[in-house]
Amino acid sequence: MELIGQTTGELEQIVREMGHPAYRGRQLAEWIYKRAARSTEEMINLPEALRAQIRERFTHPLTNAVEALRSDDGAVKYLVELCDGNRVESVYLPYEDRTSVCISTEVGCAMNCAFCATGIGGLTRNLSAGEMVDQVLLAQADQKQRISHVVYMGMGEPLANYTQTVKSLRLLTGELGISARHLTLSTVGLAPAIRQLADEGLPITLAVSIHAPDDALRAQIMPIARTHSMDELLDACRYWIEKTHRKITFEYLLLENVNDSPEQARDLARRLKSLLANVNIIPYNFVEGRGDFHRPKRQRIDAFKRELEQQQINVTERMRRGNTINAACGQLRHESEKGRKISA
Ligand code: SAH
Repeated sequence: MELIGQTTGELEQIVREMGHPAYRGRQLAEWIYKRAARSTEEMINLPEALRAQIRERFTHPLTNAVEALRSDDGAVKYLVELCDGNRVESVYLPYEDRTSVCISTEVGCAMNCAFCATGIGGLTRNLSAGEMVDQVLLAQADQKQRISHVVYMGMGEPLANYTQTVKSLRLLTGELGISARHLTLSTVGLAPAIRQLADEGLPITLAVSIHAPDDALRAQIMPIARTHSMDELLDACRYWIEKTHRKITFEYLLLENVNDSPEQARDLARRLKSLLANVNIIPYNFVEGRGDFHRPKRQRIDAFKRELEQQQINVTERMRRGNTINAACGQLRHESEKGRKISA
């Protein structure tokens, strides 16, 4: 059974069943979530009998870093092994005013976006809430630093693994004490799940991968667009804004000669205008074996941004971090899977 992933209440119940007072459950929660203890040995204020029972009944921790690639700018990419041997990746990103971890929600992904590395092998399995949270705890333990922000932008589609993802969000806000506003979930655009999430009462930051100004192009590069049209998606986004009073960030991956013309910028602005949206431009990171996509030249990226700004859209560009370790967004796929070694 998984220890990480249990709420404090559930841990209280578990220790009671093992014949200990409930407050031991709270102490246990503190060790796991606040102090990121990686073994029962560290839990010095718990009686040895309880620690032995925990070791016997529970798997702890749930993740183990088999590789940590450290970039010049402080970013660290972890190759994370799960208990069944499957591997995902997470990235630690230090900034001046915060520390952020980018986590995976699935082993692989079923969405099969034409440009994305993760989708190449399809979906292997969903992660549990504990496995998601443990990526944060692993980074925290390795960095010896409290993590202030978490972004769900690693491998997988978080809303395709809805129940576990929401449970992990609640653990991060509750047990780890991270402000919901410091949690960002990025989705391919599963409209019904966006509506459901809006009703959860979790004021997180929602990011939607839009990547195209119209259904035809979107369906070409993102198969999910054939199931949920842009109208349906943007209606769900409107519902999100109504319910949460939170703005949405629309991510727009820029692909040379595919979706990067000034005209497409104007079309996009027209679609998003009434949503008071932020658009986050992500220049494409090349993925081998994923079609003939390229990153536009700087001039073209700037022209696209300018066009959006002229249409009164608030534009940002994704900061490039961890370049030297290939940690960039959408590249979370272990190179050795393709039979090559990561060049650190
Ligand atoms: N499933 C979620 C999270 C995916 S990763 C989603 O679709 O939003 C986060 C972002 O990186 C998404 O916007 C995704 O489309 C983008 N991305 C995928 N491959 C990329 C690449 N090669 N270069 C840049 N961004 C990429």
